[in-house]
Amino acid sequence: MNLRMVEWLRCISCGARLRPETGPASQTNGDISEGKLVCVSCERNYPVVRSIPRFVGDEEYAESFGYQWNYFDKMQLDSHMGNDLSRERFFATTKWPQKMDGQLILEAGCGMGRFSEIALETGAEIVSFDLSNSVEANFRNNGKSSRAHILQASIYEIPLAKENFDKIFCMGVLQHCPDVRRAFMSLLPFLRPGGEIVIDVYQRHTGIFPPLKYWARPFLTWMAPRGVHKFLSRAIPPAFYLKKALYKVPLVGKPIGKLIPIGPVSHAPRLNFTDEELIQVKILSALDMYSPVHDHPQTIDTVRKWFADAGLVDVYVGTGFNGINARGKKPAVISRMERSSATATA
Ligand SMILES: [Zn+2]
Repeated sequence: MNLRMVEWLRCISCGARLRPETGPASQTNGDISEGKLVCVSCERNYPVVRSIPRFVGDEEYAESFGYQWNYFDKMQLDSHMGNDLSRERFFATTKWPQKMDGQLILEAGCGMGRFSEIALETGAEIVSFDLSNSVEANFRNNGKSSRAHILQASIYEIPLAKENFDKIFCMGVLQHCPDVRRAFMSLLPFLRPGGEIVIDVYQRHTGIFPPLKYWARPFLTWMAPRGVHKFLSRAIPPAFYLKKALYKVPLVGKPIGKLIPIGPVSHAPRLNFTDEELIQVKILSALDMYSPVHDHPQTIDTVRKWFADAGLVDVYVGTGFNGINARGKKPAVISRMERSSATATA
């Protein structure tokens, strides 16, 4: 970890600053690879392991993501895959400019860092955290940048100074937290006045039949992530080739093939996937559906209410790439009435 991050880190018990304690050998060029951070007030300490400060004892409900993103650590990385899928989703969801030099951005739930990579490309400095060990994959992918600060922490106990970030984004994450509203609300204290928060969250299906995923989840989520992965690695390749073969049979082939629930067997030509790569994409996407402990899709009205209850302004809530997209700003100046009522209650 870069020593610069210490300035922003805070104790999750008491909110005080942390001081690094490391042997001389582990500190080179202002980086700490192993050691600990000690609270200057309550003395609670937090280990730094493999260059990442750790504010959680284990992965709690996020173990599947630690497994998933360390195994599939490159598959959604634009620079590795030679495509723009993460870049497109990032800018379509945030509407942020391509250049954000000098800005400080918080990324909640970074996984292997597909969006960290894009945020770094804008010139911004980023602090990215995740509850799971996927932070290791993100460190492999983006840790070489001096503007990337990666830590392992819970969204419910974020170890950072308040009102310090120009922007916060949280994409593909909130539905996987046990209490989705509380997870969203826990981000807001870290946004500076005038700063902007952007989220996306799965949209709840309102029809009579929920998607297959929600029928099938109970049969698979009891398995450990490795077990789900093994099952999918055996089931998906034959299903893929069968579906592909059926699609070539005139008349009846396509309607029958459609019953095999693994999505399309061809991809946009610009992505240039081989069959083997496409199969891996499908295994990852199924693993992502069936292994998380929590999956709580939301409605547009619920998300609107969160933003209203949080007192955000310039709010947009609509549907987008991954369900519901929402953006809003923290008011820049507290009104006189709010200030006097705050003084009265203080
Ligand atoms: Zn403390």
